[in-house]
Amino acid sequence: MGKEKDQEMNDNSFDPYFEKRFRLMERLKDELNLSEKVYKAMLKVPRHLFVPFNYRDDAYADTPLPIGKDQTISAPHMVAIMCELLDLEEGQKVLEVGTGRGYHAAVVAEIVGEKGKVVTVERIPELAEKAREILEALGYKNVMVVVGDGSKGFEEEAPYDRIFVTASAPDVPKPLIQQLKAGGKMVLPVGNFMQNLVVVEKDEKGEVKRRTWGAVRFVPLMGEYGF
Ligand code: SAM
Repeated sequence: MGKEKDQEMNDNSFDPYFEKRFRLMERLKDELNLSEKVYKAMLKVPRHLFVPFNYRDDAYADTPLPIGKDQTISAPHMVAIMCELLDLEEGQKVLEVGTGRGYHAAVVAEIVGEKGKVVTVERIPELAEKAREILEALGYKNVMVVVGDGSKGFEEEAPYDRIFVTASAPDVPKPLIQQLKAGGKMVLPVGNFMQNLVVVEKDEKGEVKRRTWGAVRFVPLMGEYGF
C-alpha cells in the first residue's frame, strides 16, 4: 500500500466505502487527467450517502443512479468533467441549477471552501429537503439549498463567479447569463434529443462566448427557460 493511500485509509478508516471510492477516483484521475483539487474533493465526498439506501453498494460505479421523483444523480465522470470545465477556485460564489440530492453541490463546496459559497436551486421540494438534510448532516455550512425554478437563476444571491446546470436546457437561459459575473464561466447541457455540454464565458467587458465540449445525456430542465 502506498504512503498516500495509507494516510487516506487512516483518515477514512470509519468509512466502509472508502476503498471503493478510492479505486473509482484512481481510475477517473487517469482517464480524465483530473486536477488535484477535483480529485481530492471527490475522494472526500461520500457519494453513497447521497443515494437512496438500496443503491449504496452501487454508489462507486461510474453511472447515474435513481434518486426518486424520476430524477437521477449524475455519473461521477460527468461531475468531474463539469468541475474541471468550470475551473473552480477557492473563495468563489457558485450557482448550481438542479440540486438533486446535493452530491455535485458538496463536491463544489469542497473546492470553493469555507470562504466560498454554493447556492443550489431545485424545483422538486422533496429532493431539496433531502439534499438539505444530507448536506447539513455532513456539516456543509457553505451550501444554500433553494426551492424554485432555477432556469431563472437566483437573483437574490447574484452575481456568481461560476454557474452550472445539471439538467438540459433548450438554450442558455438569459437570466443565467445576466447573473454571471464579468470574467465568469458557466457549464450546462443544451438540447433535447441531441444534447451537448456547452461552456459559456463572459469576458471583463461583458461579452459572451460559447463553445461546445461534446455530447452528453441529462434529464430535461423544466421551468420558464426550460422545456
Ligand atoms: N446535481 C445532481 C447531482 O448531484 O448529481 C444531479 C441532479 S439531476 C441530474 C437534475 C435535477 O435538476 C433534478 O433533480 C431536477 O428536478 C432538477 N431540475 C430540473 N429543472 C429544474 C429547474 N427549472 N429548476 C431547478 N431544478 C430543476
